[in-house]
Amino acid sequence: MRAFINTARLEDGAESFDEAGSLAAWLRGRDLLASGASVTEGEREAAIAVREALRDLAGVNAGRPLPDASSRRLDALAAACGLRPRFDPGGTVSLAPEVAGVAGALGRLLGIVVASIGDGRWQRMKTCRNPACRWAFYDATRNRSAVWCDMAACGNRAKARSYYARRTRLDR
Ligand SMILES: [Zn+2]
Repeated sequence: MRAFINTARLEDGAESFDEAGSLAAWLRGRDLLASGASVTEGEREAAIAVREALRDLAGVNAGRPLPDASSRRLDALAAACGLRPRFDPGGTVSLAPEVAGVAGALGRLLGIVVASIGDGRWQRMKTCRNPACRWAFYDATRNRSAVWCDMAACGNRAKARSYYARRTRLDR
């Protein structure tokens, strides 16, 4: 999930899904899309919109509100792909979509999110406090206190700022 959200780097505008083929390759590489399935430009745009809605959802774990448009988008995806519980012979249950293709792949990702909300793992999926970054990261701290992504630039910049602020106070 973190890898999916981080297919865009907001800080410098790097976009892994820059064309339909790159989205198809990414989904196939994770067994989310059949090898023969094609991806349209509209599906590429939909995947990016869902990804950004999931980034917003991870932002909730970092104290940001979830924009209405993002909650609506995730609701619409769940409805459109017919996400529903499936019970396997072993007695485990998972949320799975009724459709294949890109919509089905996005639905499976959403099903994973719902399952991880249920078992408490999702609450550790956060986005970086730096508004220009918002990189997704897994907060492994005991008390769930991490706020910066693991990119040195974000945390260090903040640390440098508070160091500088302290120094300035001391020098006064
Ligand atoms: Zn960051």
